[in-house]
Amino acid sequence: MRDSTTRSTGDATRAGEPEACDLLLLGGTILTLDEADTTLADGAIAVRDRRIVAIGPRAALAARFRPARTLACDGRLLMPGLVNSHNHTPLMITRGMIEDLGFAPMFTAGIPQGHRLTEGEAEALARLGVYEMLRHGCTTIVDFYRYPQALARAHAELGTRAIVAGRVHDADPEALTQRRYVYDPALARETIRENADLIAAWDGHDGGRIRCDWAPHAPDTCSDACLAEVAGLAAAHGGNVHTHLCQSPVEVEQVRARSGLTPPQALEEAGLLTPALLAAHCIHIKARDIARLARAGAAMAYTPLGNAKTGRIAPALDLAEAGVEITLCTDTFSGDLFEAMRWGVAMQRIRRGAPVLDARTALAWATGNGARRLGLGAEVGALTVGRRADILVMNTDAPSMAPLIDGYGLLVYGATGMDVGTVVVDGRIVIEDGVLTTADGPAIVREAQAVAEGLWTRSGRRPITSGGA
Ligand SMILES: [Zn+2]
Repeated sequence: MRDSTTRSTGDATRAGEPEACDLLLLGGTILTLDEADTTLADGAIAVRDRRIVAIGPRAALAARFRPARTLACDGRLLMPGLVNSHNHTPLMITRGMIEDLGFAPMFTAGIPQGHRLTEGEAEALARLGVYEMLRHGCTTIVDFYRYPQALARAHAELGTRAIVAGRVHDADPEALTQRRYVYDPALARETIRENADLIAAWDGHDGGRIRCDWAPHAPDTCSDACLAEVAGLAAAHGGNVHTHLCQSPVEVEQVRARSGLTPPQALEEAGLLTPALLAAHCIHIKARDIARLARAGAAMAYTPLGNAKTGRIAPALDLAEAGVEITLCTDTFSGDLFEAMRWGVAMQRIRRGAPVLDARTALAWATGNGARRLGLGAEVGALTVGRRADILVMNTDAPSMAPLIDGYGLLVYGATGMDVGTVVVDGRIVIEDGVLTTADGPAIVREAQAVAEGLWTRSGRRPITSGGA
Protein backbone atom coordinates (compact mmCIF):
# COMPACT_ATOMS: atom_id res chain seq x y z
CA MET A 1 0.00 0.00 0.00
CA ARG A 2 1.17 3.47 -0.80
CA ASP A 3 0.04 6.71 0.75
CA SER A 4 -0.67 8.86 -2.29
CA THR A 5 -1.55 12.05 -0.41
CA THR A 6 1.97 13.24 -1.14
CA ARG A 7 1.17 13.17 -4.86
CA SER A 8 -1.73 15.58 -4.64
CA THR A 9 -2.08 18.78 -6.58
CA GLY A 10 -3.96 21.94 -5.71
CA ASP A 11 -3.90 25.23 -3.93
CA ALA A 12 -1.13 26.17 -1.62
CA THR A 13 -3.05 27.12 1.50
CA ARG A 14 -2.02 28.65 4.76
CA ALA A 15 -1.06 26.11 7.35
CA GLY A 16 -4.11 24.70 9.09
CA GLU A 17 -6.66 26.13 6.65
CA PRO A 18 -8.57 23.43 4.73
CA GLU A 19 -8.49 23.39 0.94
CA ALA A 20 -11.74 23.70 -0.92
CA CYS A 21 -12.83 20.76 -3.05
CA ASP A 22 -16.03 19.93 -4.89
CA LEU A 23 -16.58 16.41 -3.65
CA LEU A 24 -15.06 14.22 -0.95
CA LEU A 25 -15.73 10.49 -1.06
CA LEU A 26 -15.08 9.61 2.56
CA GLY A 27 -14.37 6.12 3.88
CA GLY A 28 -14.42 2.76 2.15
CA THR A 29 -11.86 0.45 0.59
CA ILE A 30 -10.29 1.88 -2.56
CA LEU A 31 -9.13 -0.34 -5.41
CA THR A 32 -7.17 2.13 -7.54
CA LEU A 33 -6.13 -0.26 -10.36
CA ASP A 34 -3.07 1.98 -10.76
CA GLU A 35 0.28 0.64 -12.00
CA ALA A 36 1.26 -0.55 -8.53
CA ASP A 37 -2.23 -1.98 -7.85
CA THR A 38 -2.48 0.27 -4.81
CA THR A 39 -5.33 -0.44 -2.42
CA LEU A 40 -6.35 1.62 0.60
CA ALA A 41 -8.53 0.56 3.53
CA ASP A 42 -10.62 3.33 5.12
CA GLY A 43 -9.50 5.76 2.43
CA ALA A 44 -10.87 8.90 0.83
CA ILE A 45 -10.84 10.62 -2.57
CA ALA A 46 -11.00 14.39 -3.05
CA VAL A 47 -12.31 15.83 -6.33
CA ARG A 48 -11.92 19.36 -7.66
CA ASP A 49 -12.64 20.76 -11.14
CA ARG A 50 -13.65 17.29 -12.42
CA ARG A 51 -10.34 15.69 -11.38
CA ILE A 52 -9.01 13.65 -8.47
CA VAL A 53 -6.82 15.98 -6.40
CA ALA A 54 -5.97 13.57 -3.58
CA ILE A 55 -6.32 9.92 -2.60
CA GLY A 56 -5.26 8.81 0.85
CA PRO A 57 -6.24 7.86 4.39
CA ARG A 58 -9.67 9.08 5.40
CA ALA A 59 -8.50 10.96 8.47
CA ALA A 60 -5.83 12.88 6.54
CA LEU A 61 -8.17 13.95 3.74
CA ALA A 62 -11.03 14.79 6.14
CA ALA A 63 -8.68 17.19 7.94
CA ARG A 64 -7.19 18.62 4.76
CA PHE A 65 -10.28 19.39 2.67
CA ARG A 66 -13.39 21.54 3.00
CA PRO A 67 -15.71 19.87 0.47
CA ALA A 68 -18.81 21.37 -1.10
CA ARG A 69 -20.30 17.87 -0.91
CA THR A 70 -19.29 14.81 1.11
CA LEU A 71 -20.31 11.32 0.07
CA ALA A 72 -20.19 8.82 2.94
CA CYS A 73 -18.63 5.61 1.59
CA ASP A 74 -18.08 3.71 4.85
CA GLY A 75 -17.88 -0.02 4.23
CA ARG A 76 -18.13 0.45 0.45
CA LEU A 77 -15.69 -0.57 -2.29
CA LEU A 78 -14.49 2.24 -4.56
CA MET A 79 -13.06 1.52 -8.00
CA PRO A 80 -12.53 3.24 -11.37
CA GLY A 81 -15.46 3.62 -13.75
CA LEU A 82 -15.61 1.01 -16.51
CA VAL A 83 -14.76 1.58 -20.17
CA ASN A 84 -17.23 -0.08 -22.58
CA SER A 85 -15.42 0.02 -25.91
CA HIS A 86 -18.12 -0.77 -28.51
CA ASN A 87 -21.89 -0.16 -28.52
CA HIS A 88 -24.87 0.92 -30.61
CA THR A 89 -27.44 2.10 -28.09
CA PRO A 90 -30.49 2.34 -30.43
CA LEU A 91 -30.12 -1.41 -31.11
CA MET A 92 -31.72 -1.88 -27.69
CA ILE A 93 -34.85 -2.24 -29.85
CA THR A 94 -33.86 -5.83 -30.66
CA ARG A 95 -32.89 -6.97 -27.16
CA GLY A 96 -34.70 -10.09 -26.03
CA MET A 97 -35.86 -10.70 -29.60
CA ILE A 98 -32.72 -11.03 -31.73
CA GLU A 99 -30.81 -13.50 -29.57
CA ASP A 100 -32.74 -16.57 -30.75
CA LEU A 101 -32.56 -15.53 -34.42
CA GLY A 102 -28.86 -16.24 -34.70
CA PHE A 103 -27.25 -13.29 -36.45
CA ALA A 104 -26.57 -9.55 -36.41
CA PRO A 105 -29.67 -7.31 -36.60
CA MET A 106 -28.54 -5.64 -39.82
CA PHE A 107 -28.71 -9.00 -41.62
CA THR A 108 -31.98 -10.22 -40.12
CA ALA A 109 -35.36 -9.80 -41.80
CA GLY A 110 -38.62 -9.28 -39.92
CA ILE A 111 -37.29 -7.09 -37.11
CA PRO A 112 -37.24 -3.31 -36.67
CA GLN A 113 -34.21 -2.09 -38.61
CA GLY A 114 -32.05 0.89 -37.74
CA HIS A 115 -32.55 2.49 -41.13
CA ARG A 116 -36.29 2.56 -40.49
CA LEU A 117 -36.05 4.38 -37.13
CA THR A 118 -36.86 8.06 -36.90
CA GLU A 119 -34.30 10.25 -35.16
CA GLY A 120 -36.67 10.65 -32.20
CA GLU A 121 -37.06 6.88 -31.88
CA ALA A 122 -33.28 6.42 -32.05
CA GLU A 123 -32.84 9.00 -29.28
CA ALA A 124 -35.41 7.35 -26.99
CA LEU A 125 -33.64 3.99 -27.42
CA ALA A 126 -30.19 5.57 -27.01
CA ARG A 127 -31.29 7.12 -23.70
CA LEU A 128 -32.32 3.64 -22.50
CA GLY A 129 -28.97 2.15 -23.55
CA VAL A 130 -26.94 4.95 -22.00
CA TYR A 131 -28.99 4.85 -18.79
CA GLU A 132 -28.49 1.09 -18.44
CA MET A 133 -24.73 1.21 -19.03
CA LEU A 134 -24.33 4.12 -16.61
CA ARG A 135 -26.47 2.34 -14.00
CA HIS A 136 -24.11 -0.64 -14.38
CA GLY A 137 -20.97 1.41 -13.90
CA CYS A 138 -19.85 2.12 -17.47
CA THR A 139 -18.54 5.68 -17.30
CA THR A 140 -16.75 5.78 -20.68
CA ILE A 141 -18.77 4.46 -23.60
CA VAL A 142 -18.05 4.09 -27.31
CA ASP A 143 -21.36 4.42 -29.15
CA PHE A 144 -21.92 4.53 -32.90
CA TYR A 145 -25.02 4.23 -35.03
CA ARG A 146 -27.31 6.05 -37.39
CA TYR A 147 -28.46 9.48 -36.12
CA PRO A 148 -25.23 9.91 -34.13
CA GLN A 149 -26.26 13.38 -32.96
CA ALA A 150 -29.18 11.75 -31.14
CA LEU A 151 -26.64 9.50 -29.41
CA ALA A 152 -24.47 12.49 -28.51
CA ARG A 153 -27.48 14.28 -27.01
CA ALA A 154 -28.27 11.22 -24.86
CA HIS A 155 -24.71 10.99 -23.53
CA ALA A 156 -24.49 14.76 -22.98
CA GLU A 157 -27.77 14.76 -21.05
CA LEU A 158 -27.21 11.69 -18.89
CA GLY A 159 -23.61 12.56 -18.04
CA THR A 160 -21.49 9.77 -19.52
CA ARG A 161 -18.04 10.21 -20.99
CA ALA A 162 -18.62 9.14 -24.57
CA ILE A 163 -16.88 8.59 -27.85
CA VAL A 164 -19.62 8.88 -30.46
CA ALA A 165 -19.47 8.16 -34.19
CA GLY A 166 -21.83 7.65 -37.11
CA ARG A 167 -22.30 4.37 -38.94
CA VAL A 168 -20.68 4.71 -42.34
CA HIS A 169 -21.58 2.14 -45.00
CA ASP A 170 -22.64 2.00 -48.62
CA ALA A 171 -24.19 -1.47 -48.69
CA ASP A 172 -27.95 -1.05 -49.05
CA PRO A 173 -29.50 -2.15 -45.70
CA GLU A 174 -32.74 -3.46 -47.25
CA ALA A 175 -30.73 -5.78 -49.51
CA LEU A 176 -28.60 -6.90 -46.53
CA THR A 177 -31.66 -8.28 -44.72
CA GLN A 178 -31.95 -10.64 -47.72
CA ARG A 179 -28.18 -11.38 -47.56
CA ARG A 180 -27.50 -9.44 -50.79
CA TYR A 181 -24.77 -6.81 -51.18
CA VAL A 182 -25.75 -3.77 -53.26
CA TYR A 183 -23.27 -0.90 -52.93
CA ASP A 184 -24.74 2.57 -53.43
CA PRO A 185 -22.38 5.60 -53.57
CA ALA A 186 -25.24 7.85 -52.43
CA LEU A 187 -25.41 5.90 -49.15
CA ALA A 188 -21.67 6.41 -48.60
CA ARG A 189 -22.12 10.16 -49.17
CA GLU A 190 -25.10 10.31 -46.80
CA THR A 191 -23.53 8.34 -43.95
CA ILE A 192 -20.16 10.10 -44.30
CA ARG A 193 -21.95 13.46 -44.17
CA GLU A 194 -23.80 12.30 -41.03
CA ASN A 195 -20.51 11.37 -39.32
CA ALA A 196 -18.84 14.64 -40.45
CA ASP A 197 -21.81 16.73 -39.21
CA LEU A 198 -21.61 14.94 -35.85
CA ILE A 199 -17.91 15.80 -35.52
CA ALA A 200 -18.53 19.44 -36.44
CA ALA A 201 -21.33 19.77 -33.89
CA TRP A 202 -20.18 17.65 -30.95
CA ASP A 203 -16.44 16.86 -30.89
CA GLY A 204 -15.00 18.22 -27.64
CA HIS A 205 -18.38 19.05 -26.07
CA ASP A 206 -18.38 19.80 -22.32
CA GLY A 207 -14.64 20.03 -21.80
CA GLY A 208 -13.99 16.97 -23.95
CA ARG A 209 -16.47 14.71 -22.12
CA ILE A 210 -18.06 13.97 -25.52
CA ARG A 211 -15.59 13.13 -28.27
CA CYS A 212 -16.34 12.09 -31.83
CA ASP A 213 -14.60 9.55 -34.08
CA TRP A 214 -15.15 7.80 -37.40
CA ALA A 215 -16.79 4.39 -37.70
CA PRO A 216 -16.94 2.48 -40.99
CA HIS A 217 -19.45 -0.26 -40.17
CA ALA A 218 -17.54 -3.32 -41.49
CA PRO A 219 -15.34 -4.46 -44.38
CA ASP A 220 -18.31 -6.13 -46.10
CA THR A 221 -20.90 -3.36 -45.63
CA CYS A 222 -18.41 -0.75 -46.87
CA SER A 223 -17.01 -1.01 -50.41
CA ASP A 224 -13.25 -0.65 -50.85
CA ALA A 225 -13.77 2.92 -52.09
CA CYS A 226 -15.87 3.76 -49.03
CA LEU A 227 -13.24 2.27 -46.67
CA ALA A 228 -10.48 4.28 -48.36
CA GLU A 229 -12.45 7.50 -48.13
CA VAL A 230 -13.09 7.03 -44.41
CA ALA A 231 -9.40 6.19 -43.88
CA GLY A 232 -8.44 9.59 -45.29
CA LEU A 233 -11.04 11.45 -43.24
CA ALA A 234 -10.13 9.60 -40.03
CA ALA A 235 -6.40 10.22 -40.49
CA ALA A 236 -7.09 13.94 -40.91
CA HIS A 237 -9.37 13.98 -37.84
CA GLY A 238 -7.27 11.91 -35.43
CA GLY A 239 -8.84 9.81 -32.67
CA ASN A 240 -9.90 6.20 -33.18
CA VAL A 241 -11.58 4.28 -35.97
CA HIS A 242 -14.29 1.87 -34.81
CA THR A 243 -15.47 -1.07 -36.87
CA HIS A 244 -16.65 -4.68 -36.92
CA LEU A 245 -14.07 -7.17 -38.19
CA CYS A 246 -14.31 -10.87 -39.03
CA GLN A 247 -17.73 -10.98 -37.40
CA SER A 248 -19.24 -13.67 -39.63
CA PRO A 249 -18.42 -16.16 -42.39
CA VAL A 250 -20.73 -14.06 -44.62
CA GLU A 251 -18.42 -11.04 -44.18
CA VAL A 252 -15.27 -13.07 -44.87
CA GLU A 253 -16.82 -14.60 -48.00
CA GLN A 254 -18.17 -11.29 -49.32
CA VAL A 255 -14.79 -9.53 -49.01
CA ARG A 256 -13.02 -12.51 -50.62
CA ALA A 257 -15.50 -12.60 -53.50
CA ARG A 258 -15.16 -8.85 -54.00
CA SER A 259 -11.40 -8.46 -53.87
CA GLY A 260 -9.75 -11.79 -53.07
CA LEU A 261 -8.65 -10.38 -49.70
CA THR A 262 -9.40 -11.23 -46.10
CA PRO A 263 -11.25 -8.53 -44.13
CA PRO A 264 -8.06 -7.41 -42.28
CA GLN A 265 -6.22 -7.25 -45.62
CA ALA A 266 -9.04 -5.11 -47.03
CA LEU A 267 -8.67 -2.71 -44.10
CA GLU A 268 -4.90 -2.66 -44.63
CA GLU A 269 -5.31 -1.90 -48.35
CA ALA A 270 -7.69 0.94 -47.48
CA GLY A 271 -5.25 2.42 -44.96
CA LEU A 272 -7.39 1.62 -41.92
CA LEU A 273 -5.19 -0.99 -40.25
CA THR A 274 -3.39 1.39 -37.88
CA PRO A 275 -2.95 1.87 -34.11
CA ALA A 276 -6.15 3.93 -34.21
CA LEU A 277 -8.25 0.90 -35.17
CA LEU A 278 -10.54 -0.64 -32.54
CA ALA A 279 -12.02 -3.74 -34.17
CA ALA A 280 -14.96 -5.55 -32.60
CA HIS A 281 -15.52 -9.31 -32.67
CA CYS A 282 -12.48 -10.75 -34.56
CA ILE A 283 -14.13 -14.19 -34.50
CA HIS A 284 -13.47 -15.62 -37.97
CA ILE A 285 -9.84 -14.54 -38.17
CA LYS A 286 -6.83 -16.54 -39.34
CA ALA A 287 -3.47 -16.65 -37.53
CA ARG A 288 -1.70 -14.60 -40.20
CA ASP A 289 -4.34 -11.89 -39.90
CA ILE A 290 -3.99 -11.89 -36.11
CA ALA A 291 -0.28 -11.22 -36.72
CA ARG A 292 -1.27 -8.52 -39.21
CA LEU A 293 -3.37 -6.76 -36.55
CA ALA A 294 -0.55 -7.05 -34.01
CA ARG A 295 2.03 -5.62 -36.45
CA ALA A 296 -0.27 -2.70 -37.20
CA GLY A 297 -0.80 -1.97 -33.50
CA ALA A 298 -4.58 -2.32 -33.83
CA ALA A 299 -6.74 -3.31 -30.84
CA MET A 300 -9.72 -5.59 -30.32
CA ALA A 301 -13.09 -4.84 -28.75
CA TYR A 302 -13.92 -8.22 -27.21
CA THR A 303 -17.66 -9.03 -27.07
CA PRO A 304 -17.77 -12.35 -25.21
CA LEU A 305 -21.44 -12.45 -24.29
CA GLY A 306 -22.67 -11.23 -27.67
CA ASN A 307 -20.47 -13.79 -29.45
CA ALA A 308 -21.60 -16.59 -27.12
CA LYS A 309 -25.26 -15.86 -27.82
CA THR A 310 -24.65 -16.74 -31.47
CA GLY A 311 -22.64 -19.83 -30.53
CA ARG A 312 -19.20 -18.34 -31.18
CA ILE A 313 -16.02 -17.72 -29.22
CA ALA A 314 -13.56 -15.11 -30.45
CA PRO A 315 -9.90 -16.19 -30.09
CA ALA A 316 -9.23 -13.19 -27.84
CA LEU A 317 -6.38 -14.87 -25.98
CA ASP A 318 -4.67 -15.75 -29.29
CA LEU A 319 -4.88 -12.08 -30.24
CA ALA A 320 -3.58 -10.98 -26.83
CA GLU A 321 -0.66 -13.41 -27.02
CA ALA A 322 0.19 -12.07 -30.48
CA GLY A 323 0.33 -8.56 -29.05
CA VAL A 324 -3.12 -7.18 -29.88
CA GLU A 325 -4.48 -5.19 -26.96
CA ILE A 326 -7.87 -6.41 -25.71
CA THR A 327 -10.62 -4.03 -24.62
CA LEU A 328 -14.04 -5.13 -23.46
CA CYS A 329 -17.56 -4.30 -24.59
CA THR A 330 -21.15 -5.39 -24.22
CA ASP A 331 -22.14 -4.36 -27.78
CA THR A 332 -25.62 -3.22 -26.85
CA PHE A 333 -27.71 -6.18 -25.68
CA SER A 334 -26.61 -5.79 -22.10
CA GLY A 335 -25.10 -2.87 -20.26
CA ASP A 336 -23.38 -5.05 -17.70
CA LEU A 337 -19.61 -5.07 -18.21
CA PHE A 338 -19.13 -7.09 -14.99
CA GLU A 339 -21.02 -9.90 -16.69
CA ALA A 340 -18.86 -9.42 -19.81
CA MET A 341 -15.67 -9.73 -17.73
CA ARG A 342 -16.85 -13.04 -16.28
CA TRP A 343 -17.93 -14.36 -19.70
CA GLY A 344 -14.73 -13.09 -21.27
CA VAL A 345 -12.60 -15.24 -18.99
CA ALA A 346 -14.96 -18.24 -19.09
CA MET A 347 -15.12 -18.35 -22.90
CA GLN A 348 -11.33 -18.42 -23.24
CA ARG A 349 -11.11 -21.19 -20.61
CA ILE A 350 -13.65 -23.24 -22.57
CA ARG A 351 -11.77 -22.57 -25.82
CA ARG A 352 -8.39 -23.54 -24.36
CA GLY A 353 -9.71 -26.28 -22.07
CA ALA A 354 -7.55 -24.79 -19.34
CA PRO A 355 -7.82 -22.22 -16.52
CA VAL A 356 -6.19 -19.42 -18.50
CA LEU A 357 -6.38 -15.70 -17.64
CA ASP A 358 -7.24 -14.16 -14.28
CA ALA A 359 -9.53 -11.60 -12.70
CA ARG A 360 -7.01 -8.75 -12.74
CA THR A 361 -6.54 -9.19 -16.51
CA ALA A 362 -10.30 -9.05 -17.07
CA LEU A 363 -10.48 -5.87 -14.99
CA ALA A 364 -7.71 -4.38 -17.13
CA TRP A 365 -9.72 -5.15 -20.28
CA ALA A 366 -12.65 -3.23 -18.77
CA THR A 367 -10.66 -0.26 -17.44
CA GLY A 368 -7.05 0.64 -18.28
CA ASN A 369 -6.80 -1.14 -21.65
CA GLY A 370 -9.94 0.53 -22.97
CA ALA A 371 -8.85 3.90 -21.63
CA ARG A 372 -5.40 3.61 -23.22
CA ARG A 373 -6.72 2.51 -26.61
CA LEU A 374 -9.15 5.42 -26.65
CA GLY A 375 -6.33 7.87 -26.01
CA LEU A 376 -7.61 8.42 -22.45
CA GLY A 377 -4.90 6.45 -20.64
CA ALA A 378 -3.79 9.43 -18.58
CA GLU A 379 -7.39 10.52 -17.93
CA VAL A 380 -9.46 7.52 -16.83
CA GLY A 381 -9.16 3.77 -16.21
CA ALA A 382 -7.55 4.06 -12.75
CA LEU A 383 -7.94 6.16 -9.64
CA THR A 384 -4.86 8.37 -9.37
CA VAL A 385 -4.23 12.02 -8.60
CA GLY A 386 -4.65 14.14 -11.72
CA ARG A 387 -6.98 11.77 -13.53
CA ARG A 388 -10.61 12.59 -14.25
CA ALA A 389 -12.90 11.65 -11.37
CA ASP A 390 -14.77 8.66 -12.88
CA ILE A 391 -15.50 6.57 -9.79
CA LEU A 392 -17.80 3.67 -8.84
CA VAL A 393 -19.00 3.11 -5.29
CA MET A 394 -19.98 -0.55 -5.04
CA ASN A 395 -22.74 -1.73 -2.66
CA THR A 396 -20.83 -4.09 -0.42
CA ASP A 397 -24.00 -5.01 1.49
CA ALA A 398 -25.39 -6.76 -1.61
CA PRO A 399 -25.34 -10.55 -1.18
CA SER A 400 -23.25 -10.96 -4.33
CA MET A 401 -20.60 -8.61 -2.92
CA ALA A 402 -19.22 -10.79 -0.13
CA PRO A 403 -16.75 -11.95 0.91
CA LEU A 404 -14.48 -9.05 -0.01
CA ILE A 405 -10.93 -10.36 0.37
CA ASP A 406 -8.71 -9.27 -2.56
CA GLY A 407 -11.50 -7.52 -4.49
CA TYR A 408 -10.45 -8.50 -8.01
CA GLY A 409 -11.97 -11.98 -8.00
CA LEU A 410 -15.16 -10.78 -6.35
CA LEU A 411 -15.70 -8.05 -8.95
CA VAL A 412 -15.10 -10.36 -11.91
CA TYR A 413 -16.68 -13.61 -10.72
CA GLY A 414 -19.31 -12.33 -8.28
CA ALA A 415 -20.45 -8.78 -8.95
CA THR A 416 -23.19 -7.65 -11.30
CA GLY A 417 -23.90 -4.21 -12.66
CA MET A 418 -26.74 -3.83 -10.18
CA ASP A 419 -24.18 -3.95 -7.35
CA VAL A 420 -23.02 -0.50 -8.46
CA GLY A 421 -24.39 2.00 -5.95
CA THR A 422 -23.13 5.44 -6.89
CA VAL A 423 -21.43 6.58 -10.10
CA VAL A 424 -19.30 9.70 -10.47
CA VAL A 425 -18.34 10.87 -13.98
CA ASP A 426 -16.08 13.87 -14.49
CA GLY A 427 -16.51 14.75 -10.82
CA ARG A 428 -20.33 14.77 -11.01
CA ILE A 429 -22.62 12.29 -9.23
CA VAL A 430 -24.75 10.88 -12.05
CA ILE A 431 -26.13 7.81 -10.24
CA GLU A 432 -26.69 8.08 -6.49
CA ASP A 433 -27.70 4.96 -4.57
CA GLY A 434 -28.92 3.44 -7.82
CA VAL A 435 -30.94 6.47 -8.91
CA LEU A 436 -30.14 8.50 -12.04
CA THR A 437 -29.66 12.14 -11.02
CA THR A 438 -29.38 13.70 -14.48
CA ALA A 439 -32.78 12.64 -15.89
CA ASP A 440 -35.93 10.72 -14.95
CA GLY A 441 -34.78 7.07 -15.19
CA PRO A 442 -38.22 5.40 -15.03
CA ALA A 443 -39.51 7.83 -17.69
CA ILE A 444 -36.60 6.84 -19.97
CA VAL A 445 -37.62 3.18 -19.63
CA ARG A 446 -41.31 3.98 -20.27
CA GLU A 447 -40.52 6.05 -23.38
CA ALA A 448 -38.24 3.35 -24.80
CA GLN A 449 -40.95 0.75 -24.16
CA ALA A 450 -43.53 2.85 -26.02
CA VAL A 451 -41.15 3.36 -28.96
CA ALA A 452 -40.31 -0.35 -29.05
CA GLU A 453 -43.97 -1.38 -28.96
CA GLY A 454 -44.63 0.86 -31.96
CA LEU A 455 -41.63 -0.38 -33.94
CA TRP A 456 -42.30 -4.07 -33.29
CA THR A 457 -45.98 -3.62 -34.12
CA ARG A 458 -44.96 -1.99 -37.43
CA SER A 459 -42.72 -5.04 -38.04
CA GLY A 460 -45.69 -7.36 -37.61
CA ARG A 461 -45.02 -8.50 -34.04
CA ARG A 462 -47.61 -7.57 -31.43
CA PRO A 463 -46.05 -7.05 -27.97
CA ILE A 464 -47.49 -9.06 -25.05
CA THR A 465 -48.26 -5.71 -23.37
CA SER A 466 -50.97 -5.22 -25.99
CA GLY A 467 -52.28 -8.77 -26.03
CA GLY A 468 -49.45 -10.60 -27.77
CA ALA A 469 -48.95 -11.91 -31.28
ZN1 LIG B 1 -21.21 -3.75 -32.96
